[in-house]
Amino acid sequence: MKPVNDGPPRGARPVGVTNVRAQAPPTHSALVSPPAASLHGVSRTYPVGGTTFAALTDISLDIAPGEFTVIVGESGSGKSTLLGLLAGIDRPSSGRVTVGGVALDTLSEGALSRWRGRALGLVFQFFQLLPTLTSAENVMLPMDFCGTWPARERRTRALALLDQLGVADQADKLPSRLSGGQQQRVAVARALANDPALLLADEPTGNLDSRTSHTLLDLLSTLAHSGRTIVMVTHDRRAMTAASRSIALEDGRIISDTRPAHA
Ligand code: ADP
Ligand code: MG
Repeated sequence: MKPVNDGPPRGARPVGVTNVRAQAPPTHSALVSPPAASLHGVSRTYPVGGTTFAALTDISLDIAPGEFTVIVGESGSGKSTLLGLLAGIDRPSSGRVTVGGVALDTLSEGALSRWRGRALGLVFQFFQLLPTLTSAENVMLPMDFCGTWPARERRTRALALLDQLGVADQADKLPSRLSGGQQQRVAVARALANDPALLLADEPTGNLDSRTSHTLLDLLSTLAHSGRTIVMVTHDRRAMTAASRSIALEDGRIISDTRPAHA
């Protein structure tokens, strides 16, 4: 099969710059930036007993760059499934998931994992820091894995991120010595280590007290305002006001999709 965007064949006459300039200017639609992420006709089913259970049904969705989207819905409505598909941790039963212009179904498992390391930041409810590594080492891990920064710059970058999140003084402590709020800030610093365009968070305030949640939501808003795309699953009502878009799921379907800030 021939991929869609494979460019001109090798040996084809190169298109000169003047040639391109001679063409008509791009239309308005060509200037609109492509979505940061999109799902097209996505369903995810699981075999259960002799039948199939639909965790998500026919989801189509475009997420714009810099959008701060919250996904809300009752337990079991498909929120984590949706996030897993965007992260390429799970694959849809049908439909297509595209993130940053990459159609995830075209990647092998190995390519997917390398892509994830560079393009995505993931934040979970239970922080999931490695217990035997210090905060700084946890933040350096994605850089080590992807080789995105020269080895000698990684600790400096980790310390700068921890500082940005207000936990620079915790850099050389093990996670077990940190409060939940501090661990989650370290986890956000780790998620930002490779400067991903897209940050995915699954109930990141689920284990934080209300004051600490508030601080984390402020941090996420600030990140979104500086152009980072964020998709966050949450039960937290205040998160819905911090976000620019709110998508509600029920039984694996989108029942509402609103942008309160732009109403
Ligand atoms: P939420 O995050 O909104 O609580 P999930 O996305 O985790 O919901 O799950 C949606 C539905 O899919 C739930 O009913 C859940 O039981 C079901 N589900 C999730 N993973 C599996 C699986 N591996 N096998 C069967 N059913 C699953
Ligand atoms: Mg969930």
